[in-house]
Amino acid sequence: MNASAGIPFNNSYARLPEHFFARLPATPVAAPRLIRLNDALAETLGLDAQALTSEAGVAILAGNFVPQGAEPLAMAYAGHQFGNFVPQLGDGRAILLGEVVGRDGVRRDIQLKGSGRTPFSRGGDGRAALGPVLREFLLSEAMAALGIPTTRTLAAVTTGDFVFREGPQAGAVLTRVAQSHVRIGTFQFFAARGDTGALRVLADYIIGRHYPAAAETENPYRALLDAVIARTASLIARWQLVGFIHGVMNTDNMSVAGETIDYGPCAFMDSFHPGTVYSSIDHAGRYAYGNQPRIAYWNLARLAEAVLPLLAPETDVAVAQAHAALDAFPKSFEQAYHEGMRRKLGLLTERDGDIELARGLLACMDAQGADFTLTFRRLSNATTEGSEGAVRALFADATAFDAWLPAWRARVADEAAPDATMRAANPAFIPRNHRVQAAIAAAQADDFSKFHELMAVLSRPYDDQADYAGYADPPRPDEVVRETFCGT
Ligand code: AMP
Ligand code: MG
Repeated sequence: MNASAGIPFNNSYARLPEHFFARLPATPVAAPRLIRLNDALAETLGLDAQALTSEAGVAILAGNFVPQGAEPLAMAYAGHQFGNFVPQLGDGRAILLGEVVGRDGVRRDIQLKGSGRTPFSRGGDGRAALGPVLREFLLSEAMAALGIPTTRTLAAVTTGDFVFREGPQAGAVLTRVAQSHVRIGTFQFFAARGDTGALRVLADYIIGRHYPAAAETENPYRALLDAVIARTASLIARWQLVGFIHGVMNTDNMSVAGETIDYGPCAFMDSFHPGTVYSSIDHAGRYAYGNQPRIAYWNLARLAEAVLPLLAPETDVAVAQAHAALDAFPKSFEQAYHEGMRRKLGLLTERDGDIELARGLLACMDAQGADFTLTFRRLSNATTEGSEGAVRALFADATAFDAWLPAWRARVADEAAPDATMRAANPAFIPRNHRVQAAIAAAQADDFSKFHELMAVLSRPYDDQADYAGYADPPRPDEVVRETFCGT
């Protein structure tokens, strides 16, 4: 086994100016043990899965050994946390090992999370507990299987050390893979210091890495802003369409590559209510399901502010450019959301009244607390008269649903194969909070079988998996999870 476990590092962030990061290795752990390696992702990345599962490979995944070609560093960033600006955040418990260019030609970061203290740790211990690591593994891979842009999980290991949260817990390290780890907060870091030179270097880097077409335009920085806004609008629409609640949409948790990043107290909604919040730290409901599009817009306004000096030399011109870019967000979001909502209803064509039809169903669901995921999935099998029993049963009082149904049936009758369209748009399986918690609880007692089983089920969200039908069910009243924790 060679000293790199066959990881063909090809680093670019480490070539940026030294004040973009702090160079340091991960802090070793006591007794690393592999929980799971994501073989399919290893394959995409062009990595040797067998080498990674060897003792030397696991030592790399735990941060105990720096492989050849890695240039470990902690990235600097800032960010608005719950609306308050913090000028100095940064990777407080993560180390970027380096980058690889995958078999698909895409450059991706390989990062260890839970890898020990860094100069950006502030009061934290730099570590991660097993629960949040398994949660991120499950949720990020579920999102990928749903077809939603996201950071991925390559591996998780237990460390053999304890971390102390509300008591001692098993420690773990997660290997996160991202198109990049640059966040809105990375731009804010330099903007807050008035370091326009660094801002330009970062913007050029992101254009080169994620938005090369922007370089060919008259104002590449405006084109960059437009592109990040468009990707973010599409991403948030995808979240809304599957009932995903991020939970901590701080600007340091918003990728400029348009990927879902930073799985903390995130959750998928069971009963449909726009005001749903799971995060134990979100007392005011700032990051409630129904607020996510607005918050994304607010975050993008912070990005626009940060890059203002790049948009034009004259402030008033730059501000006008920023406003023009931001003005595209509502339409861009709405277009993606409406397109997705039509698909959820089996409509590939577009007609006046489609969105009102969707709103009508959502209102019935909200009034009755119907399960978001199952309502749409079961509706996929209810296009013909008499087939509505299963979906109807999700409404305690089905009066309003019964009144809504004929209008949808009449509309969908003009579509070719709407049931197939719907089954491809409406997952049967999402990472239900009670299932995630049960898998974590079993793993904390050293039984990882539920975790692996849940991973397998979530890898095929759109297939009816008869043997695992119970995983599609909403929680029984005594199983409902009302609160999730970021566990940091
Ligand atoms: P998050 O809420 O997970 O996005 O983290 C916000 C900031 O706190 C980031 O700078 C993290 O790196 C840092 N942080 C979170 N947990 C820890 C920890 N256990 N030790 C050190 N820093 C942490
Ligand atoms: Mg974060």
